[in-house]
Order: sequence, then structure tokens, then C-alpha cells
Amino acid sequence: MGIRLVSYEIEGEAGLDVVVSDQGATVADLIAALQLPADDPAILKPYHKQRYSVCRGCVNNCCKYNSIVVDLVAAKRLAEHLGLSLSRFAQAYLSCESDLPFPEFKQRPCPFLVQNCCTVYTARALICRLYLCTPMTERLEKLRCAVLFAGEAALRQRLVELGLAPSSWHEKRLRGALDQRCRVGTVTQETWEHEHEQLDLLLHRNPFLIGRDYETVRLKECCTPALWQFVNNSEKYRPL
Ligand code: SF4
Ligand code: SF4
Repeated sequence: MGIRLVSYEIEGEAGLDVVVSDQGATVADLIAALQLPADDPAILKPYHKQRYSVCRGCVNNCCKYNSIVVDLVAAKRLAEHLGLSLSRFAQAYLSCESDLPFPEFKQRPCPFLVQNCCTVYTARALICRLYLCTPMTERLEKLRCAVLFAGEAALRQRLVELGLAPSSWHEKRLRGALDQRCRVGTVTQETWEHEHEQLDLLLHRNPFLIGRDYETVRLKECCTPALWQFVNNSEKYRPL
């Protein structure tokens, strides 16, 4: 595995940090690394009734209460699982409202949750694989978010190409909205530059857009150079 998660104290609580040992580490490596604490009863899970337990059987099940944003790999796998084209799947299951940043399931709780169990486990979304309520360091949170944004932005872009997306998801409108926020002062010049750089990555260098899956997308490809440097900076790492 190209990365590992290590214990780290966060505001007096036991949390997790990430250590990258291989620059070629993939999204599948991050998924596998996060599965270990999810299955470990010694890892703090603040939303779990017992606080220290495994995710399986959790009655505060995060599938019930959260919006489930969907990525391109999962959308294709779910469509195939249901015997639908991607367009039909999107029309039946996804909400593509103009005020949402990315497509998410129309239904809440998740339509695939039955008696507290996931009925599409092997095709579940990237957010389902990367979510864990355990506290995390900023670099692990940011890495997780960058991977999620890449997968979700790829589905958003594919829906634009299929004519199923609102106009606010088109590149020109995304950039225009960002420019407007800078003009009225709700974002700084520095944030404006950073967000344009991120849009370049999500819209034009996004590894999920060229049909790759969790096993072949490298974590590095989902990050801006500055974020990847931050994720790799182990200076502040201090084991418990
Ligand atoms: S991550 Fe979700 S399933 Fe796991 S303990 Fe937290 S709330 Fe429960
Ligand atoms: S797809 Fe499965 S794991 Fe994901 S939210 Fe739905 S029921 Fe939960």
C-alpha cells in the first residue's frame, strides 16, 4: 500500500493522519487505508453510539442522514448494476439542481440502503468509501476532499456533455461565478487564483474523466502541486 494512516492527537482526541510512502499511491490505496480504521473497534468514531466500535452495524449510519454526492466511477458501476445507461441512471437517481455543486442522489436516505445495509456495496460511491467520522488532520481531510472533488467533478462534466446538467455546471458559468465572488469581495485574490487552478485540474486534467478507475488513478493526479506538497510534508507528524 502506497500510503498508511497513523494515530494523531487532534484537540485532545485520537484522530488520524496520513503518511505517503509511494508517490504512485492510488485512490484504491486510500480506500483500503480508510477501511482499516472503519473496521477497528479501537478507533474513535464520535458519531457511533459507543464512540469506540466498528462502522458495521452503526445505528447512526451516515448513509441515513447525509447527502450522497456521486462520482463518475460509481455512477457507471451503479448504472451497469441496474441495467441502465448512464443517462437513464442519472435521470432516475440523480439530482442535478443548479444550486448544487455536484450531482447527488435525489433520495435521502440513500435509495440503496435497506434495513441499515448497503445493497450495492461493490458499486457504492467514492464518498461511501472515503467517509469516516474519526477526526482527521487537515492534510488527510484535504487529500480526501481533493479525491472526492475529482471523481464528482468528472460525473458533473459527463452530465454536461450528455445535456443533462444545468447551465451553472458549464465551465464558463463556473468561472464566471468565481470571478463575480472575487469582484464583490467574498473571495480574496489568492483564493480566486487557487480556485481557478483547481477548476483547471477538475475540468481539463482530471484523471477520472479519461475513464480511469480507483485502482489506476493516482492520488497525486487529484491534487494541485501545492496540495500534494502539503500532503507529503511530514514535519508535523507526531505519533501518539
Ligand atoms: S463513519 Fe458512519 S457508519 Fe462509521 S461510525 Fe461514523 S457515523 Fe457510523
Ligand atoms: S450507496 Fe451504500 S454505502 Fe453509500 S450511502 Fe448508499 S447505502 Fe450507504
